[in-house]
Amino acid sequence: MDKPIIYTANETETRALAFQIGTKLSKGAVIALSGELGAGKTTFSQGLAKGLGVEEYVDSPTFSILKVYEGRLPLYHMDVYRLEEDSVEELGLDEYLYGDGVSLVEWPSRIVSLLPKETIFIEIEALPTGDRAIKIDSSTLYKELRGL
Ligand code: ADP
Ligand code: MG
Repeated sequence: MDKPIIYTANETETRALAFQIGTKLSKGAVIALSGELGAGKTTFSQGLAKGLGVEEYVDSPTFSILKVYEGRLPLYHMDVYRLEEDSVEELGLDEYLYGDGVSLVEWPSRIVSLLPKETIFIEIEALPTGDRAIKIDSSTLYKELRGL
């Protein structure tokens, strides 16, 4: 099967999809979220956080590497864009990635070697039409979302 893709036509649809995902995640889940600048990563993160029961406003963690939010489960929102590959090990991020909350990692390529093997990779691509193609690298999650 090809990578499952869900298309969203606007920001509201992306939030709704991410919200749905947030409601389904369980303890220890790790989502690796990639996409170019402006693709919709922050939008997606905010929807997912809402679905996880986070009430606090979620913004981009770019300048802090990690932000922890309280929800149905704790949300560990990471942005590792600025990290040097070889400084990653020393940061202790695995405490979160293998912790009791849900990890949402933006720009995951820098820390791929640290990610648990159950990590769900999600990539958002802006199409020339303006729609977003949201590729979900988990057929289990995709089927749940589609009610299959
Ligand atoms: P990133 O964090 O990846 O840089 P943002 O979530 O901050 O991206 O911004 C995405 C921008 O694209 C927002 O201005 C949003 O309104 C717009 N947009 C248009 N269509 C969509 C869509 N289908 N899904 C998400 N965002 C969209
Ligand atoms: Mg962003």
